[in-house]
Amino acid sequence: MADFKTVKEKTDKYIMNTYSRFDVEIESGKGATAQGGGKSFVDFGSGIGVNALGYCDDGWVKAVTAQAKKLSHCSNLYYSPVQGELAQMLCKASGFERVFFCNSGAEANEGAIKLARKYGFDKYGKERTTIVTLKNSFHGRTVTTLSATGQDAFHNYFFPFNDGFKFAQANDFESVRKACTGDVCAVMMEAIQGEGGVLPLDTGFVKKVADFCKERDILLIFDEVQTGIARTGKFFAYENFGVSADIVSSAKALGGGLPMGAVLCRKGLENVLGSGSHGTTFGGNPIVCAGAIEVLKRVMQKGFLESVNEKGDYIREKLSKIDGVGKIRGMGLMLGFEVDGVDSNKAADLAAQNGLLILTAKNSLRMLPPLVITREEIDRGIKILTDTINELKNKGANQ
Ligand SMILES: *Cc1c(COP(=O)(O)O)cnc(C)c1O
Repeated sequence: MADFKTVKEKTDKYIMNTYSRFDVEIESGKGATAQGGGKSFVDFGSGIGVNALGYCDDGWVKAVTAQAKKLSHCSNLYYSPVQGELAQMLCKASGFERVFFCNSGAEANEGAIKLARKYGFDKYGKERTTIVTLKNSFHGRTVTTLSATGQDAFHNYFFPFNDGFKFAQANDFESVRKACTGDVCAVMMEAIQGEGGVLPLDTGFVKKVADFCKERDILLIFDEVQTGIARTGKFFAYENFGVSADIVSSAKALGGGLPMGAVLCRKGLENVLGSGSHGTTFGGNPIVCAGAIEVLKRVMQKGFLESVNEKGDYIREKLSKIDGVGKIRGMGLMLGFEVDGVDSNKAADLAAQNGLLILTAKNSLRMLPPLVITREEIDRGIKILTDTINELKNKGANQ
């Protein structure tokens, strides 16, 4: 096995340098613990919310390898039993009517945007195409989803961006209402703004937006790419607000570690995207579907959602005892917090050196641990986090 220096050199030389990587090598993993470069890491990030069942879960490995031996790919020109099975499970679990499978979060949002625009077009004509999203949102890296992202920092370099998006203020109903002029076909939002800093929407705000959208026949889209698949203690996070959604996009955790996205829609929208109107070569690939079926089987087990909330509460209690940790935001196992006087990037960097993988979101530390993380792993991770914060504070004090 190559040493870390060689791996790093090769990577930086031959891969476009679009990521600022930690000086950490990951070679293998099980549950919420990873190994690489002779070190062990507790993982509070799940590869950005992907490894819901942790690294290399036994059931998931079995499902994926069995499918790889049986049929790896067959194209959407034909029927695939695993695809149909997964679609049924996903619709039953979420209460939605129909699904379109794709390969990533951005692609799922592209699908959601296309569906909403086609609905507006079919019913009201081509003037009704604008989608209102929220300031500080994040919806992906394609040109359209960058255009949909409500942060100026993402509207650079790649001109021209797409028309047809307007930005409203989160948790300010008046701002959404004002943005919803006659050309608007949909409102799209994250139940908890993830990249934006782990900022949950207020229930009152979401309820008002949902009622307003229903009244005006404006579709309500939730971008559940980060918050979905049991992450917040509900199957989809918007369920925490007691509202219904017209369209939901999903990805990250859905494939349990393989690339998969999905667009789900409610009854009444199932025929908006008809034959030839949308497609993607790899969408619903059999191996990926087999992995996703295992993910859904597990998160739908009795008591699973409760266990997510219990673990979330347990982590909150532990975090609140760390000196300097501010208000803890989020739901279930999606948590964010600032640490007084500590830079989040420096903290994540030092934590990684100390054996803990943790994410950041703006100036917050962000936790998206595997949903199957054990108490023991939580305790180990919290211990490293506490030591890391103290180490940074002492350094700051000695400067
Ligand atoms: C990660 C993320 C995306 C983009 O997903 P990709 O798979 O990277 O394309 C979109 N929306 C939200 C809310 C996300 O967290």
